[in-house]
Amino acid sequence: LWLAEAVWITHGGGVGRAIAEWMTYGVAGLDMREADISRFHRHALTPGYIRARGAESYKNTHLIIHPSEPMARPRDLRRTPFYERYAAQQAVFIELGGFERAAWCDANAGIEEPDVPARTGWAAQYWSPVQAAEHLRTRAAAALFDMSPFTKLDVVGPDALALVQWVFTNQMDVPVGQVVYTLMLDFHGGMRSDMTVVRLAADRFRVLSGAGAGPRDLAWLRRQARARGCDVRIEEVTSAYGALGLWGPKARAILSAVTEADVSNAAFPYYTAREIVIGVAHCLALRVSYVGELGWEIYVPADLGLHVWDTLWAAGRPLGLIAAGAATMDSLRIEKGYRRLGFDLDANHNPFEAGMGHVVRLKKGAFIGRDALLQIREQGVARQLTCLTLDRPGDVVLGREPVLDDGRAVGFVTSANTGYSVGKHIAYAYLPIALAQPGRKLAIEYFGEALPATVAAEPLFDPAGERVRG
Ligand SMILES: Cc1cc2nc3c(=O)[nH]c(=O)nc-3n(C[C@H](O)[C@H](O)[C@H](O)COP(=O)(O)OP(=O)(O)OC[C@H]3O[C@@H](n4cnc5c(N)ncnc54)[C@H](O)[C@@H]3O)c2cc1C
Repeated sequence: LWLAEAVWITHGGGVGRAIAEWMTYGVAGLDMREADISRFHRHALTPGYIRARGAESYKNTHLIIHPSEPMARPRDLRRTPFYERYAAQQAVFIELGGFERAAWCDANAGIEEPDVPARTGWAAQYWSPVQAAEHLRTRAAAALFDMSPFTKLDVVGPDALALVQWVFTNQMDVPVGQVVYTLMLDFHGGMRSDMTVVRLAADRFRVLSGAGAGPRDLAWLRRQARARGCDVRIEEVTSAYGALGLWGPKARAILSAVTEADVSNAAFPYYTAREIVIGVAHCLALRVSYVGELGWEIYVPADLGLHVWDTLWAAGRPLGLIAAGAATMDSLRIEKGYRRLGFDLDANHNPFEAGMGHVVRLKKGAFIGRDALLQIREQGVARQLTCLTLDRPGDVVLGREPVLDDGRAVGFVTSANTGYSVGKHIAYAYLPIALAQPGRKLAIEYFGEALPATVAAEPLFDPAGERVRG
């Protein structure tokens, strides 16, 4: 059964076209993640949730929603194991996949003194200078980030390797304990999703994808497994584990104080995973970072989450460890040039345009999107995800604004934030190759004003990647 309903008359033609393509080719020509029936978490499919959310959406229909404004109701549905500790740090909570997740913690006010102009007006809403303080402290010492809402899927069985090789772009036939960052494409070569995958055993992979993308990723994996007749089980284990990012130059000193495992660079290199014991908890630690710093993602059974938090906290506080939030993670990742799914990465663009060719292994054999990519590579790409910085201190954009060349719109901002360590406001946009040259002067339109901006070589922060490998 197929069902499509345009929300407005203006959407009617586009919705008709998208559903026709979806029915004919299995995917629509445009990114439809926000209309995909498989995007809902299970709790969001209950009558109670639908009623509450429907009432809230009705109220908001004709309001202008700030891009960082969290949904007001229904809230406080899912709590991560670390919720109470964040609340004690005066966290400002936002909603993610039904979870309460800290955006930043007011208890961190004044811990660092960032040299950034205060935001005003629209840009100051749902923002706090505390984000800048958390950002700088992460780079100077270390911070804990609550990664628990991210979707965790186990792909298990005799055909597990065959399935992950088919759905993911990177080489998945790696030694047990290896971590792989990869994209998942649709058949046109558009980017459906990105994820971190750990090979836990010859026939077992753990797939870690975004909280928002998780349900769609799960549905797609199951659909492809069915279509290929793969002998696999795909289980969602999100709620079984809490997850913490422990990141910053002091991360190793903190972790080595609470585990007997050898966490030196030689014993625990970048992009590997090990089971380690922290306090009394068996944890899966991944040597990866979404903020461009030394550190680990630590997965702990949910019931031992507080124990692990408290153990790390006691060891880390004397070294400057703080609890930091998701808003801070975003400013850290953008100055490191890490792409954000659903913003910088979507199915309207392919990996070559997004500067993600390094996670595509065309020679590994067949995978979804490969044929399309071979053709795209042959033809070459016309646009490229490009880093811009705003020229005037204090200028801010938030995302989705038009990028102007001599007054003509040539693209739009996919994501933007302040790089507090590099001292620049940063915006990414897909731009024609001719314009995507470092030093090129452009502008970004914000509330009717053309803010001067310059194309920059990326990433702006630690281009050699020495900190993550430290
Ligand atoms: C009171 C009201 C006011 C609105 N005001 C606005 C507005 O000011 N601006 C705006 O942009 N939008 C407005 N909308 C929303 C807009 O009308 C809808 O979003 C839009 O019409 C949806 O288009 P659609 O093509 O998806 O569906 P529809 O326009 O509902 O078209 C579906 C068609 O399919 C036919 N159909 C159904 N079942 C079958 C079947 N089994 N076999 C054959 N045919 C079938 C139906 O008869 C209908 O003609 C309003 C809606 C309402 C109800």
